[in-house]
Amino acid sequence: MAKPDDARGSAARRIGLLGGTFNPVHIGHLRAALEVTEFMGLDELRLVPSARPPHRQAPQVSAEQRLAMVELAVAGEPRLKVDDRELKRDKPSYTVDTLESLRGELAAHDQLFLLLGWDAFCGLPSWHRWQELLDHCHLLVLQRPDADSEAPEALRDLLAARSVSDPLSLQGPGGQISFIWQTPLAVSATQIRQLLAAGKSARFLLPDAVLAYIQAQGLYSAPHA
Ligand code: ATP
Repeated sequence: MAKPDDARGSAARRIGLLGGTFNPVHIGHLRAALEVTEFMGLDELRLVPSARPPHRQAPQVSAEQRLAMVELAVAGEPRLKVDDRELKRDKPSYTVDTLESLRGELAAHDQLFLLLGWDAFCGLPSWHRWQELLDHCHLLVLQRPDADSEAPEALRDLLAARSVSDPLSLQGPGGQISFIWQTPLAVSATQIRQLLAAGKSARFLLPDAVLAYIQAQGLYSAPHA
C-alpha cells in the first residue's frame, strides 16, 4: 500500500494498539493482533498492558510479571511490540492519556489505530474524555461475523458521522471508525487461570515460553491450604 509522505518526505507509519490486562496473554490476543496487522498492513502493533487490573486478578501476579509474559509472547515477531507506558505511570491508565503520550512521540501524520472489541466499543460513553479519543486515533472495532448487535443510542450520531465501511480506506492520522469482521479464537485468560488453578494443562492456549514462565514463577496455581 502506498504511504502518504509529509513535507519532509518521511512516510506515515501505521501503528495499531491493543490494550488489555493480559493476565496472562494468550493465542486469542496474539492471533487477533497478527491478523489485524497483516490485514491492515500495519508497520507495528503494540500490546499495551494496563496498570490497573480488575480486582478479580490473582493477587500474586504483578504488573511486571504480566509485562514479562507479553514480552516473551511477542519475541521473534517483529511486527508485534510491547508498550509499557501505562505501567510506568502512577495515575490511573486512561486510554486518552496513553494516546496523548504516544502522539507526543510520533510524527503528526502517523496513523494510529486503536483496536476495540464490540463490547468495549459499546461501553465507550463511560470512558474518561471519550469524545477526545478520535482526535488521536482511528477506532478499529473487532466484530464477530455472526454478530447481530445494535450500537447504543449514545454512539449512533458518532457512527453516522465517523464510520467508514472499508477499514483499508481510513485516511489521515485519526478521526474515523471502521469494523473488522473477525472470529475470535475461543480462548480467554479466565479459562487459562481456571485450568491452572485446577492443576490442569493450559498448553497450546498460550505460547510455550509464557507457560514456562508461569511455571517457573509459580503463577495461577491454587493457593496452598
Ligand atoms: P479475562 O478472561 O481475564 O477477562 P481476556 O482473555 O478477555 O481476559 P484481556 O486482557 O481482558 O483478555 O483482553 C485484552 C483485549 O483482547 C480485549 O480487547 C479483548 O477483547 C481482546 N481479546 C480477549 N480475548 C480474545 C480472543 N480470544 N480473541 C480476540 N481478542 C481477544
